[in-house]
Amino acid sequence: MHDSLFADASTRLERAMKYVSISEDALEYLKYPKASLSVSIPVRMDNGSLKIFPGYRVRYDDTRGPGKGGIRYHPNVTLDEVTSLAFWMTFKCAVLNLPFGGAKGGVAVNPKSLSKLELERLSRGYIDAIADFIGPDVDIPAPDVYTNPTIMGWMMDQYNIIRRSLNPAAITGKPVTLGGSLGRNTATGTGAFFAIETLMQKFDRLPAETTVAVQGFGNAGSVVADLLSKAGYKVVAVSDSKGGIYAKQGLDIPSIRQYKESNRSIQAVYCEGTVCNIVEHVVITNEELLALDVDILIPAALENQITQENVKDIKAKYIFEVANGPISSDADLVLEERGIYVIPDILVNAGGVTVSYFEWVQNRNGLYWSLNEVNQRLKQKIVEETERIWEISQEFAISMRTAAYVHGLNRLGEALSAKGTRD
Ligand code: GLU
Repeated sequence: MHDSLFADASTRLERAMKYVSISEDALEYLKYPKASLSVSIPVRMDNGSLKIFPGYRVRYDDTRGPGKGGIRYHPNVTLDEVTSLAFWMTFKCAVLNLPFGGAKGGVAVNPKSLSKLELERLSRGYIDAIADFIGPDVDIPAPDVYTNPTIMGWMMDQYNIIRRSLNPAAITGKPVTLGGSLGRNTATGTGAFFAIETLMQKFDRLPAETTVAVQGFGNAGSVVADLLSKAGYKVVAVSDSKGGIYAKQGLDIPSIRQYKESNRSIQAVYCEGTVCNIVEHVVITNEELLALDVDILIPAALENQITQENVKDIKAKYIFEVANGPISSDADLVLEERGIYVIPDILVNAGGVTVSYFEWVQNRNGLYWSLNEVNQRLKQKIVEETERIWEISQEFAISMRTAAYVHGLNRLGEALSAKGTRD
């Protein structure tokens, strides 16, 4: 693994270059973020003290349209991480053919340690600090790890206060009552489900004979686990940041989702025993979950979960990356050698930004779609691009990840060349 996450992320570009015919200039542009902003956000805490939180917004590229990407609240957020996430957004939007570039934001904070009012002040403070750097035609934020529609609602309100006008298209992932799209909150997991279904058909795998383990039970992991279990897949293990559970016969995902909503850990829900109708289960760590002998492994938490250290323990046949960057670039090569299929983040988790795009379109048109229409359009996009990436991987005999980068690079290269260089 490289010293920095961004250096590691960039290697994916190098591996794809051989298979594309784009100009040297375009490649040079794509090696660097277009603009990066670091801010200090002052927050008045409930006890009267003042605390300063470091925040970032990186616009990686905006050739194909305004920057687009979420805002992460996590204690480990750094400029390097936000840059990598913005890089992935650039390729994700190109792969899905959305008229957006890539961007990302983040604040180094443990949101679980803040009161609701402190969280609102932090969110408004973040928008105060970056307001000149974003906008419906410039860069459009959305939720990411530990941010949600409530936070997007506060952020949009703050943006409107600053601009003295209503700008619903400035932020996506808002509450539906403030112009959010139906289906946005479940879009990442739903998109991942469509990608999994498309590829499982190619591999002739039947749901009832396919076991699944999901690491991470947030907005993406819990939805994909639920959809897979409803479609007949055997979801045998799930986890959250505190650890997980394994049950050979499959887990009752709807109950876990329901009890998880009361903010308890998965293990607490299960270990209390009375709440879910438990049959035999085993308490496992996140490391143990990754090493389970299952057909499909779904990392849906944070980056760098599968690295040189633990890649030898992986037994799954297919890995669908619902998290951004869960596999390091060197671990990727080992998985490829061992014949384990990795379906990359920039395709698998692109459902979220795709419905964000639908939300932005609806906001600009003032015409709102039914849930059915949103999901139909989402399915069409994910299935189409999954098929295309599959074809590219077959054509050049390359991994699905490299094929996805080839696909994205072709679109980005074309746009960069069409725009011309200003020198
Ligand atoms: N945070 C999500 C992602 O990583 C969604 C971004 C968006 O909706 O703009 O793709």
